[in-house]
Amino acid sequence: MDDYSFIEKNILTVSDKIYAAAKRAGRDPKDITLICVSKTKPVEMVAKAYECGRRDFGENKVQEITLKHPQLPSDTVWHMIGHLQKNKVKKAVALSEYIHSVDSAELAQAIDSEAGKIGKKQKILLEVNIADEDTKYGVSPDALEHFVCEIADLKNIEICGLMCVAPYTDKPEENRAYFRKMNDLLIDINAKSLDNVHMELLSMGMSNDYEIAVEEGATHVRIGTDIFGERVYTK
Ligand SMILES: *Cc1c(COP(=O)(O)O)cnc(C)c1O
Repeated sequence: MDDYSFIEKNILTVSDKIYAAAKRAGRDPKDITLICVSKTKPVEMVAKAYECGRRDFGENKVQEITLKHPQLPSDTVWHMIGHLQKNKVKKAVALSEYIHSVDSAELAQAIDSEAGKIGKKQKILLEVNIADEDTKYGVSPDALEHFVCEIADLKNIEICGLMCVAPYTDKPEENRAYFRKMNDLLIDINAKSLDNVHMELLSMGMSNDYEIAVEEGATHVRIGTDIFGERVYTK
């Protein structure tokens, strides 16, 4: 038997840090959801985190959600957080409570269409390339409002919020300005009172910068390494 007790310890540590960051910012810690990012990790690790009370899990590949979904209790909440290809939309819609990585009108339309077929209103977040990095997915901050207007009429999606993957850095303080900008974008879009658009969620902050993200308004942090350990990619 593998000993996964480290997962319980890690969850406690991360939860404590989220709690403290929320308090520092005058926020209610209950307003922050910890998404355990289980990509590349075996389903037994997900089950361990579930046993520790976690319910929200994030994967960046539809194949991995497909594999793990049937092996976890039905109150497990799956978040698709990775780049989504069109040919995977049907499965992503069938299995994910939230899709965080919507960054084109074509993708939003495909999600809307598949959701309609199964009578679902799919919750989505819009991915923003907050630092305008060439290597990252997401719409640029300048294009966000236009994007929102393009998809606001789709009936089978609910635009819940914004998501970003901030630049990789070992100085998390450097990402504070980006997280603040995400929060500003959310406030700006809501202030326009567009029909069918009211966004509440901010999915931002990963293992190296989530405390800063919480201080700047994150409602969902996505933590992989700090809970399940380093990922090993074999190819
Ligand atoms: C892998 C991944 C994470 C988690 O990253 P860690 O640095 O391991 O916490 C969060 N968000 C996305 C989109 C990811 O792909």
